Amino acid sequence: MSRLCAVLVALCLGVVALVGCGSASGSGPETAGSETAGSERVGRAAAGSASGGDPYFPADGNGGYDVRHYKILDTYRPGSDRLRGVTVLRATAHRNLSALNLDLVLAVDEVRVNGRPAAFRKPSRHELTVVPDRPLDAGERFRVRVSYHGRPSARSASGLEPGRDLYFRRAGETVAIGEPQIGPWWFAANETPTDKATYDIVMRVPQGKQAVSNGHLVSRRSSAGWTTWHWRMPEPMVTYLAFFAAGRYRLERGEAGGRPFVHAVSRALTAEDEDRSLRLLRATSGVVSWLESRFGPYPFSSTGGVVVGLQVGFALENQSRPVYDYSGGPDPYGMGLLVHEQAHQWFGNDVSLRRWRDIWLNEGFATYVEWLYDEDHGRATVQQHLRNAYELHGVDSGFWGLRLSDPGPSRIWREPVYVRGGMTLAALRSRIGETDMDRLLRRWVESRHFGHGTGQAFRRLASEVSGEDLDGFFAHWLDDTSKPATTAENGLG
Ligand SMILES: [Zn+2]
Repeated sequence: MSRLCAVLVALCLGVVALVGCGSASGSGPETAGSETAGSERVGRAAAGSASGGDPYFPADGNGGYDVRHYKILDTYRPGSDRLRGVTVLRATAHRNLSALNLDLVLAVDEVRVNGRPAAFRKPSRHELTVVPDRPLDAGERFRVRVSYHGRPSARSASGLEPGRDLYFRRAGETVAIGEPQIGPWWFAANETPTDKATYDIVMRVPQGKQAVSNGHLVSRRSSAGWTTWHWRMPEPMVTYLAFFAAGRYRLERGEAGGRPFVHAVSRALTAEDEDRSLRLLRATSGVVSWLESRFGPYPFSSTGGVVVGLQVGFALENQSRPVYDYSGGPDPYGMGLLVHEQAHQWFGNDVSLRRWRDIWLNEGFATYVEWLYDEDHGRATVQQHLRNAYELHGVDSGFWGLRLSDPGPSRIWREPVYVRGGMTLAALRSRIGETDMDRLLRRWVESRHFGHGTGQAFRRLASEVSGEDLDGFFAHWLDDTSKPATTAENGLG
């Protein structure tokens, strides 16, 4: 997520959009076949947890199973924000389950497990509890089919503290992007970064509108006044990185660096701004090539970007296809932002955080990569960025008062998470040298491809690669709440 959001997301909290109401036309049926159990039942079945276990956002995510694949079939009218859909999840039970939870804020019409009707209830606005007609066995692969409907924009922030549900729309255009939450506003999700899955996203919108999402465009078919857009993300993805944008978009498709790209620019922009936005999106392939030269192969099989016509207030690194806000002005979004969101494809999307307390692993890394890009392109060096930021924030500044390794759920988008996170890596490079720093970041990505990282694991790897005891260094930069002294040990000598 871009740093601009730090202020604007806070402003968005508590803003509840209430727009239009009515029924929606149904989406086509999807037959859910049963999958066979692969294990014996050992011990008694119990209900799965209603929490993914993250103390920052305990309502998000669930326990007892792991989703392997989502098939989302949504019919959506951008004009009235009426959504009706079906999500089919293929999952694996971790233990014997008498019931399991999903995250979904929309009204539920029907649930089936392995093709058979299942009982369900909504114990809270956010939770959906599913009770199969027979318990699921530990290790069993099973399928859940959930049908739902509603107006996502009417299901806003209340009750999700301190979550930030972000679902943006204006006349004729809707963008479902948000971090840490967004999935439950348009599909039945296990909304935790620890549960990655592959996706088929099938969006049906009125003919003449476009629906853009992650990954490859598998097909686009129109009939009876509707167009169905089928997108596929074949690489593992966290739920908050899934998105859709529905409205009128100018699409540009092609191939660069051996992989397909899709650029989309909202037709709500002026013709001049459309052209300018498209030109900037076309810089993506060059940025991706540069990132590959620094951190190894691009992790996913498609790329691109979307510039929306809404003033969202931030950009988000949606997997394979970041979404950029169009804020107007002479530079709707600069190269720095594009580099930042593409850097997240490695740092955040490929190597994802396991706990939200480690958000600096996403934002500090993306900020550091912005500085590295500047340095490699004849602008300010990483060292200059580090010195400037260090001098800008005095000893008494609140900038140093945030504990970076555990900022608290309401402060994950604060400036220090980005800038002090970037400074930590810049100072680490000064401390261990450029060669070890490059090896460290490459090994971090290579060893955790399609997986997760933690702050502690990064500290260990940094010490291992450099052969240095870095406990004091990381404690000063990440754990302390005071300005690090200008010492060589702190990378500030
Ligand atoms: Zn970011």
